Amino acid sequence: MKKLFVGIAVVLLALIAIVVFRANTVFEDVQLEPAKNLAQVELDEEQVVERMAGALRFRTISHDDRSNFDADAFLAFHDYLRESFPLVHERAELTLINDYSLLFQIAGSDPSLKPVMLMGHMDVVPVDDVTLDAWTHDPFAGEVVDGEIWGRGAIDNKLSVMSFLEAMEALIRDGFEPERSLFLSFGHDEEVGGRDGARAVAQHLKEQGIEFEFVVDEGGVILDGVIQSVDRPVALIGVAEKGYLNLRLRVNAPGGHSSAPPPQSGLGIISRAIVKLEDNPFPEELTHIKNTFAAYAPHALFTHRLAIGNTWLLGPVIKATLLSDPAMAASMRTTTAATMASGSSKSNILPTRAEAVVNFRILPGETSESVRERVVEIIDDERVEVIMETNVNPSPVSPTDSMGYQLLAQTIRGFDDNILVAPNLLSGGTDARYFHAVSPNVYRFIMVRATNETRKIVHGIDERIAVEDYLTAIRFYYALIRRATG
Ligand SMILES: [Zn+2]
Repeated sequence: MKKLFVGIAVVLLALIAIVVFRANTVFEDVQLEPAKNLAQVELDEEQVVERMAGALRFRTISHDDRSNFDADAFLAFHDYLRESFPLVHERAELTLINDYSLLFQIAGSDPSLKPVMLMGHMDVVPVDDVTLDAWTHDPFAGEVVDGEIWGRGAIDNKLSVMSFLEAMEALIRDGFEPERSLFLSFGHDEEVGGRDGARAVAQHLKEQGIEFEFVVDEGGVILDGVIQSVDRPVALIGVAEKGYLNLRLRVNAPGGHSSAPPPQSGLGIISRAIVKLEDNPFPEELTHIKNTFAAYAPHALFTHRLAIGNTWLLGPVIKATLLSDPAMAASMRTTTAATMASGSSKSNILPTRAEAVVNFRILPGETSESVRERVVEIIDDERVEVIMETNVNPSPVSPTDSMGYQLLAQTIRGFDDNILVAPNLLSGGTDARYFHAVSPNVYRFIMVRATNETRKIVHGIDERIAVEDYLTAIRFYYALIRRATG
């Protein structure tokens, strides 16, 4: 008996030793060396801040109902940019795409180098009337209060538009002549899908036969105090984004009076289909979460290294823990969300047509068609028609060993080597997805720090950016453009 206990103890100790050993050794440090001697820009801070505040005063709003589009606001904003950045407008070739999107091309001296693209969007989401009172400062007044610039679009995404242009204006002022061409693209309908803006810009570039060394759009930020497994800020660079699919489930039924109903009404059949879909979620896939974690793992908290370093032993426990968090689950699988349903128009009439819409966010590797096929299989009921509506396939996954990714990572760390950089899969959609057609290297990152609080104000109430963060963004893009094109 005693021998058995000793035996078990030895095995347990060995197991613990392996688990701890793996936690400390299995992850290689892949953080890139911070860039040194980054170009420094001189800024007239007061003017720079006032120009940004001014940009937030234009109501360049995207409405779901496109007939509410305010053309004058966009045209006035174009004028504002022209007045604010005379050197860029003199030096660059400017192409209007579908009247409202702007494409700047700053030609480099060496045409053999593939150009670089920085993207942003000029449109902003509306401010609901019901939330207007909740704003501390008017969302379209462009006020600067207590070291913060307030207004809708301060981060999403006039930050990109204004900081790129400030950086470029300063570079031209400083006599910088790029070897590699640089493009700046500012869409006007990102918040409603980018159909007339970024999609048309990408199409235009494709027709010109232009291929980009790399493309940078919004999507990732520097998360500060958000990721639990590490106590340092992490810059997430989006290397891919999920697809988007709406499937309409439809049942045609005889209808009739509800006093003598069949065992299953059309709505009942639809409801069963939804329950089946919820009971059979898409299989989970840990690759993306693992890739993100692996990038900063050696710096992660011991307990997290212990867990992820030992998926051979703890795999099922880790999976269950991650899946219980909806945001985590979203990066692990194609998600299923039943969002709309309809039956008859009156409480005592059986529906002749019952419908529901189910929204899917598709993981890279699957397609709208493969999702639809699986849905039909799971519902397994010929009475339910499955109709494909809005459908956007997931993007390809951009590599992390490209010049673009490395340049971004080194420059971010050049600003603060405490920041860790990691690739990431986006659950939402950006304009960047259209640009995979003109480059294999498409990255989603804006130079801004985001806390849990920041994540609430984007598209929410009290959107604003600290003056210091805005100045850092300009300094960052000044250095980045120089390194990318010099
Ligand atoms: Zn945006």
